[in-house]
Amino acid sequence: DLEYGPAPESDTEAREWLAQHADGTQLFIDGEWRKPASGQWFDTLDPATGAVLARIAQADGTDVDAAVAAARQAQAPWAALPGHARARCLYAIARLIQKNSRLFAVIEALDNGKPIRETRDIDVPLVARHFYHHAGWAQLMASEMPDRAPVGVCGQIIPWNFPLLMMAWKIAPAIALGNTVVLKPAEFTSLTAILFADICRMAGVPKGVVNIITGDGATGELIVRHPDIDKLAFTGSTEVGRKIREASAGSGKALTLELGGKSPFIVFDDADLDSAVEGVVDAIWFNQGQVCCAGSRLLIQETVHDAFIAKLKERLTTLRVGPPLDKAIDVGAIVDKVQLDRITSLVEQGRSEGAEVFQTQLEPSKGGYFFPPTLMTNVHPASTCARVEIFGPVLVAMSFRTPDEAVALANNTEYGLAASVWSESINLALDMAPKIKAGVIWINSTNLFDASAGFGGYKESGYGREGGREGAFAYTKPKWIAAAKPIEEAPVKLAAIGT
Ligand code: NAD
Repeated sequence: DLEYGPAPESDTEAREWLAQHADGTQLFIDGEWRKPASGQWFDTLDPATGAVLARIAQADGTDVDAAVAAARQAQAPWAALPGHARARCLYAIARLIQKNSRLFAVIEALDNGKPIRETRDIDVPLVARHFYHHAGWAQLMASEMPDRAPVGVCGQIIPWNFPLLMMAWKIAPAIALGNTVVLKPAEFTSLTAILFADICRMAGVPKGVVNIITGDGATGELIVRHPDIDKLAFTGSTEVGRKIREASAGSGKALTLELGGKSPFIVFDDADLDSAVEGVVDAIWFNQGQVCCAGSRLLIQETVHDAFIAKLKERLTTLRVGPPLDKAIDVGAIVDKVQLDRITSLVEQGRSEGAEVFQTQLEPSKGGYFFPPTLMTNVHPASTCARVEIFGPVLVAMSFRTPDEAVALANNTEYGLAASVWSESINLALDMAPKIKAGVIWINSTNLFDASAGFGGYKESGYGREGGREGAFAYTKPKWIAAAKPIEEAPVKLAAIGT
């Protein structure tokens, strides 16, 4: 039975933290904790058991107004601070995240269902790195961006697949560059954002600079429509991204969208097939496949198709599925029953459209939301499972003959977030890379992320970048200051004037 294994990572501290919030969580507005004006809370569940983990405050219009007002009041003084003073806050946040890394890792694993090994070794270190990196930008803003100003108050809405990391991607650049934020985590995974609010207090972030409000899509909509927000940053589904684009059109708000994907993982016949198999494991079974840039479409050169599929099936059967706090597992729980049902029905639809489904048998679960790693072969490029983002541990495989055919298949999607190319010929890989319409191309690797690299999509995968120089620029606007007479010398740098 799927039960917590022999306490590989003691979760006592996390249980104590949860017990402190037993009466329900609160909203972090203007540097203090407040009960939601609605007096309403909703349950957040442990995906590994289905049990209630905590009760989360549902923010309404009164709370959103208060959070935006606090952010507005804090913005000018925060932007007026010298960059090194803002940097000091970001460095302090990064250090406190490292200091509390285990608590963050356990709470994230409990709330989301992802393996503790991933939260501990990937999510939390990347979060700290994001704050360190952007502390640097705070210091460099005056010298590197003399012709740019903060955008102002930012409304930020994030999904549940990387709750902490998506929060870091949003908050770190925003506050580094003199903006203030009102952030809403996803309703399934609010806990680490609440923990993070306390970290901001400890780090000495001035009140009102970071406001965390929890709630469902209705709360998100209130943020989107709020008249006193200058920029919206959203990560989530393409469907909600479209709604946000419509709702904010003509409002004058700046907007960046990080949306879905159906990224190709292309294996040529000269690739190191064993390494490519490990690449696939990382591409689609990392975080239960709930990754926007997951390599979910496997494209294999026909000459090695059967051999590669055989190796992959063998590897798939060795993956261990189980409760997230067990250090020995590879695949954890799906975030919620709604997602589990969606994945199940898309796989069944694939089967009815002619795909062959290969998956391991799971032990009977005691109420958790588990789905086995799955490989679908004999898939037609036009079938539903080849086109739709499944957002689960499900890989669809197809074959191609020539590099041109690989490019055509890779681009045969409404999305364009990432792609992974496997070949021992660097010339071939570098020839493919510019032809694939995606924001990130990995060669003989996958899922490489860094705070210094801009991440984002083409086509329906969204627009704007997070991380890197482009991501930092997205939290600023051009500002051209001209004097009637040259002051001493001509202005050194004149920026393009924005609209
Ligand atoms: P979702 O769009 O349902 O929800 C995302 C967030 O939007 C949540 O906080 C939700 O409460 C809020 N929301 C829902 N309806 C809203 C509305 N009408 N107005 C404003 N906010 C609203 O997405 P999800 O299911 O939580 O996340 C999975 C999706 O996110 C996948 O499609 C995935 O590809 C995508 N994703 C993309 C990236 C990227 O960087 N491109 C990263 C992670 C996830």
